[in-house]
Amino acid sequence: MEYNIVNKNEVQFVTFERFNNMPFIKHGFSTRIGGVSEGVYNSLNLGLKTEDSENNVRKNIEKFTLAVGVDKENLVISDQVHSDVIKVVNNEDKGKGYFRERDYSGIDGLVTNVKGIPLMTIFADCVPIFFVDPTKKVIAVSHAGWKGTRLKIGKKTVEVMMHEYESNPKDIIAVIGPSIGECCYEVDQRLINEFNNSFIDTSTFVFPKQEYKYKLNLWNANRITLEEAGLLSENIIISSLCTGCNLDLFYSYRKEKGNTGRMGAIIQLI
Ligand SMILES: [Zn+2]
Repeated sequence: MEYNIVNKNEVQFVTFERFNNMPFIKHGFSTRIGGVSEGVYNSLNLGLKTEDSENNVRKNIEKFTLAVGVDKENLVISDQVHSDVIKVVNNEDKGKGYFRERDYSGIDGLVTNVKGIPLMTIFADCVPIFFVDPTKKVIAVSHAGWKGTRLKIGKKTVEVMMHEYESNPKDIIAVIGPSIGECCYEVDQRLINEFNNSFIDTSTFVFPKQEYKYKLNLWNANRITLEEAGLLSENIIISSLCTGCNLDLFYSYRKEKGNTGRMGAIIQLI
């Protein structure tokens, strides 16, 4: 098993086996269980851009950060726009998420080597990629929907880790977290054309289903971009948790037709 479901103060979140033996980080991917939101947002909705009450979302972020064991006051949250823009987070960015300051700037990836700053990206089906360089003590988290995957945000995150902190890609461990699986992700020709423009070979992640319809495996596509970046195959872990197949545990934008909450991916150096 690549993951565990942790239950703390009613909040359930996912941790990854490969990171659990790293005493210098805290991490977690939230589920929908253990929050205060109701209706379609039941119950741990972390989406600041949803129609849920802001008060509920604030309480949910507090509950999730407390469960993971990070300080909400220092939280940095990305304002995602399906770009490939990655922000290097420094001491002066501490708290530029929600509780201390709201400083949104159109970013889909966060990287830091500073201890005590929890990085959080927000999801409902898009692919969260967690990065740890245990040698240089650098962490990152990226948001890869189909657009970010096509733009190879995973590879670009690794490049930032290399240029900013001299990470060697062979040291980096990446975990692909809960997100929409091939089982639940049918796409049309137009989208596949975009992937054909940016990948030499799509045969390991695009599977024709019927005329102009395809199954798209974003996990494999991201695996390829991470291998292109120089990561070792054994250091790329796919959690294989499909959000669409597990609606009791996760929100799924596609399965719930956009009318749903959001989950958070947190990682922090300690
Ligand atoms: Zn599925």
